[in-house]
Amino acid sequence: MAIIAAKFGGSSVADANQIRKVKSIIKGNPDRKYIVVSAPGKRCDDDTKITDLLYRLKSEKESGGSYAQTLGAISERFLGIEADLEVSAGIAGEMETIESEIEKDASEDYLASRGEYLAARLVAEFLGFDFVDAAGLVQFDEKGKLLSEETNEALRKELAGRENAVIPGFYGTMPDGGIKTFSRGGSDISGAIVARAVSANMYENWTDVSGILMTDPRIVENPKPIRHITYGELRELSYMGATVLHESAVFPARQADIPINIKNTNEPNHPGTIVSNTVKGENFAIISGIAGHKDFTFITITKPMMSEEVGILRKALAVLERHDVSIEHIPGGVDTFSIVVANRFLQGKADTIVKELRDELDLDSVEVTGDVAIIATVGNGMVRRKGVSAKLFTALYKAGINIRMIDQGSSEVNIIVGVDNSDFEAAIRAIYKAFAE
Ligand code: ADP
Ligand code: ASP
Ligand code: MG
Repeated sequence: MAIIAAKFGGSSVADANQIRKVKSIIKGNPDRKYIVVSAPGKRCDDDTKITDLLYRLKSEKESGGSYAQTLGAISERFLGIEADLEVSAGIAGEMETIESEIEKDASEDYLASRGEYLAARLVAEFLGFDFVDAAGLVQFDEKGKLLSEETNEALRKELAGRENAVIPGFYGTMPDGGIKTFSRGGSDISGAIVARAVSANMYENWTDVSGILMTDPRIVENPKPIRHITYGELRELSYMGATVLHESAVFPARQADIPINIKNTNEPNHPGTIVSNTVKGENFAIISGIAGHKDFTFITITKPMMSEEVGILRKALAVLERHDVSIEHIPGGVDTFSIVVANRFLQGKADTIVKELRDELDLDSVEVTGDVAIIATVGNGMVRRKGVSAKLFTALYKAGINIRMIDQGSSEVNIIVGVDNSDFEAAIRAIYKAFAE
C-alpha cells in the first residue's frame, strides 16, 4: 500500500466548510495517512489570517495595549469551527491556556504557532485520526536552524506505530524546549519533512490554486498551469518569488526523491502540478516559469586595469560580509563588476559600506543604483538551446524596457535580468507573452 503525506494550507482549513472538503479528500483515498495542517487562512479577500491575528496579539501585549478584542476574534473563529463541525476538541480550555501564557509573556513564536496547533486538534478530531504535536519532534538548534536528521528520526519513530495522524505545521522546538516557528508559509516545510519521515510515495500539497502557474496570477491574467516541473526548477522559481510553495520545502522531498503534487482543495479532480527529478516527453517545455522580486540595489565597482588586480573581488565581498549583507548576484565585465543585494540588507548601512569599499579597494567612486527588480526565467529546456536569450531580450526591448543587468547561471537553467522596479510587471508580462503565448 502506498503512503501519502498531505499538507493542507490556510485556505483549505479556513472554515468548517473547507475542512469538510479536506475530510472528503482524505477519505477518498486511504493512502492519505499523515496530514499536516496550516492555521486557518482568509475566508474572503478582506479577512485576516489567524497567524496574522496571533502576531497582532503579541504586539498588542508588548505595547501594553488591550489585546482582548484580538484574542476574542481568534477564540470566536476556532469555537465557531468546532461547533459547526460538531466535534469536541477542547478549544475553550486551549484558549484559556493561551490566555494565561500571554499573561506570562509567552514568546512571539509560541503564540504564532497556536494557529496550527488548534487547527490540527480540530482536524484530528473531525477525521478520527491521532493528534501528534510537532513540539519535541521537529527540532531546531539554538541558532534556529532545523536539525533535519534528528527531526527525521524522531518523526519516523513517532509515526511508525500509528495508522494515521494529524500534525500541526509551521513549528517545532528549540533545545531549551521553547517553541520556534519556520518563516512565514513554513507549513510547506513541515509537510515535506513528515513526507520524508514516513517514506511517503507522494507529498501532496493542497492549496487554493490548481498547481503552479507559469507566473504570478496577480501579474498575468490566467497564466498557463505547469503540469510537470523538476525540483531544481521549482527551487529557482520559489526562491525568486513564486510563493505557492515555501522555498525550503523542496529539500526534504528532493533528498528522499518523493514527488510533490500541488493540488487544489476546491477542485480536487484537477491533476495539479507534479514536481519530481526529471521531466520528459510531451511535458518538456523550453521555459517552465517566470518569477521575480522587487527592491534590490546594484553596487557597481569600476577600476582601470581591474582585471589584473588579484584579490579585488575578495576585498569587496569581505566588506559586505562584515556588515552581514547577503549577496544575490555578481554580474561582471572586464574592469567592472556589480554586487546585487536586497535593499532590506542595506538599511542604514549603505553609506558606510560605500565608504569602506572606496577606501579598501582604492576606488575613485562607487556607483549605487537602487530600486531595481530582478526577474528569473527558469527552464531546463534552455540548456544548450540557441536563441532563448535573444528571444527574451527582444521581448523586453520591444516592450520598451531598459535591462539593467543580465546574469545566466552556469547551470543554464535560468536567465536573470534586472529592470527598474517600475518596469517589473511589464517585464514579466513581456517575457510571458514571448514564451507562453
Ligand atoms: P497556502 O495557504 O495553501 O499555503 P499560499 O497562499 O501560500 O497557499 O500559496 C498559494 C498562492 O500562491 C496562490 O493563491 C497564488 O496567489 C500565489 N502564487 C504566486 N505565484 C504563483 C504561481 N506561479 N503559481 C501559482 N500560484 C502562485
Ligand atoms: N500559518 C503560517 C503562515 O501564515 C504558516 C503557513 O501557513 O504555512 O505563514
Ligand atoms: Mg503557503
